[in-house]
Amino acid sequence: MFFFRDHLDLDLGASRVEIAFTDASVDLQGGDDKPGFAADLGRVVDEAGVPFARLSQVHGADVVEVVETPPRGPAEVPSADGLVTVRPGIGLMVRAADCVPVLLADSATGLIGAAHAGRAGTALGVVPRTVERLRALGARDLHAWIGPHVCGRCYEVPAAMREEVAALVPQTFSETRAGTPALDLGAGVHAQLTQDGVTVATVPACTLEETSLHSYRRDGAAAGRMAGLVWRR
Ligand SMILES: [Zn+2]
Repeated sequence: MFFFRDHLDLDLGASRVEIAFTDASVDLQGGDDKPGFAADLGRVVDEAGVPFARLSQVHGADVVEVVETPPRGPAEVPSADGLVTVRPGIGLMVRAADCVPVLLADSATGLIGAAHAGRAGTALGVVPRTVERLRALGARDLHAWIGPHVCGRCYEVPAAMREEVAALVPQTFSETRAGTPALDLGAGVHAQLTQDGVTVATVPACTLEETSLHSYRRDGAAAGRMAGLVWRR
């Protein structure tokens, strides 16, 4: 179920933040009305031991603060691409299949956050906006995990699109193995985080190349979605 797991010990004593990215054995694409969604979400909730707040992701830069424990079953889902919470026992989920899932945790306070950064979100700065929101809530020692996403050697785009995004986030400028224009969204997000003073870990996996992961570019409209998950015990 989990392609990658990690944790962050907090300065608060016994408490810690858990980090996980799921693999293609669960599909979290869609919502409560999709067959199989509730079962797959239930497996994730059972494994983690907390309910997860999730988003209707719209490739924007809005960030919501979660203040109420999400229901285990069907839920009202806000439209946004970043979420944060100060409360222990609430899990945060972002979903991706090639886009960049980013998980955040503050070792000083236990604040957590998550963001979904595709091409548009990277250019719009959804990750810096999420960091800013956590800092406004008191975060002082932020750590980030960049989850599996399509790599800068696989994500081919038209030259004009590369120019447009690289004008805003220069580190995204890339080339495919064939020498054609590409974007490296992971490098862009990594630069945004380090410029903001966040300690960054990157999960070294390309969704398009790794068949145990969902990939929109590989599987098209039928592609499932992985989850990036962060929660505090
Ligand atoms: Zn790749």
